[in-house]
Parts: sequence; C-alpha cells; structure tokens
Amino acid sequence: MEVIHTISAFRQARAQQGQLGLVPTMGYLHAGHLSLVECAGSECTAVAVSIFVNPTQFGPNEDFADYPRDLERDLNLLRTAGVDLVFVPDVAEIYPEGFSSAIEVTGVTEMLEGVARPSHFRGVATVVGKLFNIIQPTCAYFGQKDAQQAVVIRKMVRDLNMPVEVIVAPTVREPDGLALSSRNWYLTPTEREAATVLHRALTHAQQQYTAGVRDGAALRATMRAILDAEPLARTEYVSAADPLTLRELDQVGERGALLSMAVRIGKTRLIDNVILK
Ligand code: AMP
Repeated sequence: MEVIHTISAFRQARAQQGQLGLVPTMGYLHAGHLSLVECAGSECTAVAVSIFVNPTQFGPNEDFADYPRDLERDLNLLRTAGVDLVFVPDVAEIYPEGFSSAIEVTGVTEMLEGVARPSHFRGVATVVGKLFNIIQPTCAYFGQKDAQQAVVIRKMVRDLNMPVEVIVAPTVREPDGLALSSRNWYLTPTEREAATVLHRALTHAQQQYTAGVRDGAALRATMRAILDAEPLARTEYVSAADPLTLRELDQVGERGALLSMAVRIGKTRLIDNVILK
C-alpha cells in the first residue's frame, strides 16, 4: 500500500493503475468506511482511499478542530483491507494560498442539512470535485448514511459531465441500529444509549409505510413523536422527502421517499435516514 501526501506524487502513482475505485473519507475509519472499500475492491482492479478532514465543509461553530483523527490506526485498517493507494494531503496541498474557486450545486443543497449548515455542500462539492481531478477514479463510492451528500455528488457529476461512476452503498449500523459515524465517539455512555432513538424513529415510520401510510405529514409526525419522547434528544429536523429533489412530500408516490433527520444528543449532532421504495 502506498501512502501519498502530494498531488504530484499521487498523479504518478495513479498513472500506473488502470481502473481505480475511490473512497473519499475524513478518516477515523470504521466498518462503514471499510464496507465502501470492500465494495470498491469487488468492482475495480485497484482501490484508492483519501483521508482529508476538509475545513471548508465545516461551519465556523462546528467541530473541525475537534474532529477525531488517528492516521496510524486508519492506515493499519486500510492495509488489512488490501487498499492500493492512500492519499493524505495536508490542508495547504488542497487549498494553497490564493485558492479562490468553488463548486456550487444549487437546489438540492438548500434544504435539510443545507439549512443548518449553509456552506457545507459547497465545501463538499468543491473538495470532491478536486479529488476527482487529482485521483481520476473510474468509480467513486459514497455511503447512504449521508443521503443528501450522495444526491449532491450525483447531481454535480451529471451537471458537470465528470467521467466518474458514482456508487452509493448501504448504511452500516451497530447491532442496536445506530448508524456508524466517526462522531459517535463524542457520545457519553448515556448519550450513546439515547442515540438509538434515531433508528427507532425511522424504523417505526418505515413500518407505518409498509402498513400502507402514504401521508408525508403523518410519517414526519410519527418520527417526531418518538424523538420527542427521548429527553436527551433535540430534534433539528425530520423529513419525508422526494429521493431525487429532496422536496417535502404531501403524499409518497411512485418514486418512494427519503426519511431523514438531524438530532442533537448532548453536544453531538447525528443524522440518519432510510429509503422507502
Ligand atoms: P466521512 O469520513 O464521514 O466523510 O465518510 C466518508 C464516507 O463514508 C461517506 O461517503 C459516508 O457517507 C460514508 N459513511 C459514513 N458512515 C457510514 C456508514 N455508517 N455506513 C456506510 N457508509 C458510511
């Protein structure tokens, strides 16, 4: 496994590879990231992982400085997983002095996460666009866990004719349903227990859907009621939206729906979602 810190060295290493699968990450890897690596390995001849805590996707009062980092541990996990190339640039390599460009996807970035985190998707789209230009992957793998991010990346790739196939893989969960996230490490044991409420709320709404409920407001109310019953949870939003436009639905139709939520448990902001088909 080659660990590469500069763009020029990465371009040289990439030129030796044919079909390449890319898994972009911010590190502090868990089984969710590794499932994307496995998926990439099963579909591509070589796998690249990027580890970069991207400052431009964090708001001024968010956790950029505190975001967990452990490069040695990450590299050991990636070595065991059989990854070929790891790209670990520092901030100045990606954003050198004078950097002043951005990729802005409009529409699908304006709701859900975009409300609480107004510059988040501009940071995500810009860094992912840059990683695509540097790494030139054949395929790029993203998690359903960040559902809106996946929609935004797909839109960017289509709108800007980027020659990359985007693959979205299912959310990996703990046995009690909590979606794996690097931010779960912030939770105290009591908060960790309370954090199962996101999955419980989603599962309950999903069961209602299976039982025939199609009313968007009813599905949102179900999720909100379950979240409200957990004293440690403060709900930021619950949503039952069209899976492509992300607009809130009155009725779930043929395209199904994306049920999603952002909830604060103590100081930790957690998101989760399920797709209704
Ligand atoms: P991050 O390091 O949080 O930026 O995540 C890197 C990639 O891993 C993103 O495409 C995420 O959607 C994906 N990911 C994060 N958590 C999970 C999970 N629990 N299951 C599947 N994919 C995940």
